[in-house]
Amino acid sequence: MHEVALCNSLVGLIQDQQRQRGFRRVNRVIVEVGVLGHVDPHALDFAFDVESKDSPAEGAVLEIREIEGRAWCMDCSNLVTILKRGDPCPGCGGFAMIVEQGDELRLKELEVI
Ligand SMILES: [Zn+2]
Repeated sequence: MHEVALCNSLVGLIQDQQRQRGFRRVNRVIVEVGVLGHVDPHALDFAFDVESKDSPAEGAVLEIREIEGRAWCMDCSNLVTILKRGDPCPGCGGFAMIVEQGDELRLKELEVI
C-alpha cells in the first residue's frame, strides 16, 4: 500500500516545517493529490492517522484535494486533460502522451497552532 509511504514522507515534511516555523501542533493538513497517482483517498486518510501518531500532526484533519491529470500530446501538440494514465489523447486519439501533472502528492497548506 503506497499510501503508507506517502504519509510517512508527508509527516516528515510536516516535522521539517515544525523545525523551521516553530509551531506546536497541526490542526489541518491540506494536500493536493493527482488523480493519475492511484492514491485511494480513504486509504490515504487511514494511513495518515497511523503515520502521524506521536508527531505534531497527530489528530489533524487531512483534507484531500484532487487535481486533474494533464498531458502533452506529441501527435497534435496540445496540452490535454486525461482521467487516467494510458488514456489516448481526447483531441486526436493518439497515445504519444507525456504526463505533465496529476501523479503527485503535494503538501499545499498547514493550519497550525
Ligand atoms: Zn493529440
